[in-house]
Amino acid sequence: MQINNVKGTHDIIGEEANGFAYIENLLKQISELFAYNEVRPPVIEHSELFVRSVGEASDVVRKEMYTFNDKANRSITLRPEFTAGIIRLLVQNKTLLTNELPYKAYYCGPVFRYERPQLGRYRQFNQFGVEAVGFDSPEIDVEVIALAYTMLQSLNLEKVVLKINTLGDEQSRTAYKEALKKYFEPYLSDMCDDCQSRYDLNPLRILDCKVPTDRDLVKDAPRMKDFLSEKAQSRFEYVLALLDSLEIPYQVDDTLVRGLDYYSETVFEFHYISKGGNNYGAIGAGGHYDKLVKELDGPDVAGVGFSFGIERLFSVLKDDDLLRYILNDYLDYYVMPLGLAAREMALTVATELRLAGFRTDLCFEEAKLNSMFKRAERKMAKFAVIIGEDEINRREVIIKNLETKQQKTVALDKLVETINSDLGEYCEDCSCE
Ligand code: AMP
Repeated sequence: MQINNVKGTHDIIGEEANGFAYIENLLKQISELFAYNEVRPPVIEHSELFVRSVGEASDVVRKEMYTFNDKANRSITLRPEFTAGIIRLLVQNKTLLTNELPYKAYYCGPVFRYERPQLGRYRQFNQFGVEAVGFDSPEIDVEVIALAYTMLQSLNLEKVVLKINTLGDEQSRTAYKEALKKYFEPYLSDMCDDCQSRYDLNPLRILDCKVPTDRDLVKDAPRMKDFLSEKAQSRFEYVLALLDSLEIPYQVDDTLVRGLDYYSETVFEFHYISKGGNNYGAIGAGGHYDKLVKELDGPDVAGVGFSFGIERLFSVLKDDDLLRYILNDYLDYYVMPLGLAAREMALTVATELRLAGFRTDLCFEEAKLNSMFKRAERKMAKFAVIIGEDEINRREVIIKNLETKQQKTVALDKLVETINSDLGEYCEDCSCE
């Protein structure tokens, strides 16, 4: 029987592979501009890392982790998210958190969650994100949001909506959790099993419940904003003022709590509805964390980060037709040797063009000129390079602009030099001289 891919996974091939490479490269470049450096933590970690950070009450830890015992009977988990691994990495490599702070890291790679597969929801999917770790500052929260926003702008995702909220400081959250417990207590026996344990472990998680009857109860539950300490309230107002000064539009959403337990103070999500009206929900999300580093036995310092789902970014870009120019396979040059003798020269020419930075392919098969032109068209080549017997003898090639149909003979030993200096003449829509 044929072996297929595991449920909830997908092969990234064809235009999706091109799209992923484009998205990841762009996000890496922008992260570098903001002075972030790449880190690559392992895919497997000790399970305890996620129990202690993401939290026992979270759906991720309760139901979604790929956990197994290795041959030495250690409990190992395939990472369900990156932040915990990155904080573990920073705590373990002690010097990283004693040098210049915040330590700014970006990451990219697969994560694993045993969720119910559906449109846009996989069991293995890819995330790109950043963490800025080392001290508590509302300005860093805003810088991180600005980085995410710049990334989305660079991808031309204009219809993105930034939703933001605060979970307050520890004092605010303790007061809020107590109020939630008081509110839910009379209904508890009618609530779902998950919410009954969330009630004890972390009542904030009840606000994320998807069960319709519990969701109805959540509608009238107390709101975080009414339990904020004065300090937490003014910190949040300052964050919003900084966003205003950077002209980053946002919507305050006081129902936003995020599904991972380590967040405190600022939390945010980027939502997207495509031009055609398809609602993609959150394409990226993140927030500030006060206690996570200490919880993982590091110094008592705060951090902030976010993560984008690459599959989601790809889907919205495709839906809004923003990948057309990137996904179209094209060639700068298609080299067409006429006859066996021309093939050797064709290889030399193709190599020279590639080394000069031009995407080049060549015809290896014995074919007539007309059918080679058809191939060049199918491959969306901008130029054809024709090498016949005369050209071999004269050490020349013919370069034909396949759009304007103009052609020119160029000496082989001046090929790249001539192409570079004549680019304007060859290429109509090119602005170079
Ligand atoms: P989270 O780590 O849960 O905050 O998720 C960050 C981002 O990852 C989300 O905004 C989604 O874009 C993406 N994401 C989360 N879960 C999945 C999934 N099961 N399949 C695909 N993308 C996901």
